[in-house]
Amino acid sequence: MSYSQDVLNHLHRRNPGEPEFLQAVHEVLESLDPVLQRHAYYQEARILERIVEPERQLIFRVPWLDDTGQPRVNRGFRIEFNSAIGPYKGGLRFHPSVNLSILKFLSFEQTFKNSLTTLPMGGGKGGSDFDPKGKSDTEVMRFCQSFMTELCRHIGPQTDVPAGDIGVGGREIGYLFGQYKRIRNEFTGVLTGKGLQWGGSLIRPEATGYGCVFFAEEMLKTRGETLAGKTCTVSGAGNVAQFTVEKINQLGGKVVSLSDSAGTIHDPDGIDAEKLAFVMELKNVKRGRIAEYAQTFNCHYLDGQTPWGIPCDGAFPSATQNEISGTDAVTLVQQGCQFVSEGANMPSTPEAVDVFQQHQILYGPGKAANAGGVATSGLEMAQNSMHMNWTRAEVEARLQLIMASIHASAFETAQEYGQPGNYVMGANIAGFVKVANAMLDQGLV
Ligand code: NDP
Repeated sequence: MSYSQDVLNHLHRRNPGEPEFLQAVHEVLESLDPVLQRHAYYQEARILERIVEPERQLIFRVPWLDDTGQPRVNRGFRIEFNSAIGPYKGGLRFHPSVNLSILKFLSFEQTFKNSLTTLPMGGGKGGSDFDPKGKSDTEVMRFCQSFMTELCRHIGPQTDVPAGDIGVGGREIGYLFGQYKRIRNEFTGVLTGKGLQWGGSLIRPEATGYGCVFFAEEMLKTRGETLAGKTCTVSGAGNVAQFTVEKINQLGGKVVSLSDSAGTIHDPDGIDAEKLAFVMELKNVKRGRIAEYAQTFNCHYLDGQTPWGIPCDGAFPSATQNEISGTDAVTLVQQGCQFVSEGANMPSTPEAVDVFQQHQILYGPGKAANAGGVATSGLEMAQNSMHMNWTRAEVEARLQLIMASIHASAFETAQEYGQPGNYVMGANIAGFVKVANAMLDQGLV
């Protein structure tokens, strides 16, 4: 039995009931065999056993008062997975589905993603099973204040720097930052995704979506193509989806879908800048459902469905984990899809990934394709520590360079290990080697 298989078997025994975490570890470890065989010192140092175990897992009670004065209780989490190459860094997710398995998967993935960005950031992730949907602003504020009252003792600009994720946008980051500042009496870069007037970076809101589109462009370039004139499907209608649409439009592509947890809109004419402005207002201000788009612009609404049955040249899954099944992947390929760039984290099931690879689809896994968000968070940290702000053009140029470098690193590593075009293997090995070597350098940590 191979070293990685042995570690996986042990992991399954020790972490029953954590399917998302096991899925994420499985996907990484099964790509690492070539590098583990080439360098015996990883096994001798038991690097895999160490790298799959979070350094610290915090779980805490979050009590808060709703608008009727009733006490409510949620569960808060912060997983500090790996600090070998920098302070823990990764978002906070507020969604009713949040549990330990999902946050361990996200923080494990984050460790390798952050390594790929070339910036000095370790891996972490956190959040709560609190659902901001349907809550008033004051309820969200009271929840965020209570959440930060506990979290603030575990984080800091040199220790752990959270950001946003599903259900945590500019509003929530504001409330969280305000409470941190009150308790600690310090104005520091302890969170990223901050408002522009109080330490935020230009392009951070756009970064994940823009970066994911830049990654798709890089993949297409290897086949002498570009996004111009391509029809694309996008899922989700939140932060990542919105700016994915904006950048595809800027590069001459056409986006024909968006979705939320209730259903999908299909607009064959394309979601242009004016329609995108409507979506931003609908989702970020009115907090409404995507079905309203179909009513306003008189296009199809696919109730309860995902966008994967809509014909496209390329797909940008930007909602959540495991949103593309093996069957969806077959449909995508049959309908002519040639590339998939993942804005969401682990949106494709293992069966879907197999289908993409069998059909030589240009497939950019989330840990490479959506790394632009955390990379720009790294740029926000750099600006905070220098007490200065870069221009929009400067940050976007850096983001574009970072995405090109992540692509090159995944592409070249896959080639070096005899699997050209396999971005999953390339990203996993490149991300792993840097973290593993740092751990070796630092002794038994
Ligand atoms: P948002 O909360 O802004 O938007 C999430 C979107 O996905 C919403 O449209 C939401 O619909 C939909 N969605 C969420 N959960 C589900 C579900 N279980 N089934 C169907 N649809 C769902 O989040 P983001 O745009 O920030 O994040 C989207 C994805 O991108 C996540 O996987 C996240 O981890 C990943 N990501 C985000 C980064 C960032 O910088 N924000 C960085 C890197 C990755 P509804 O409103 O109905 O719930």
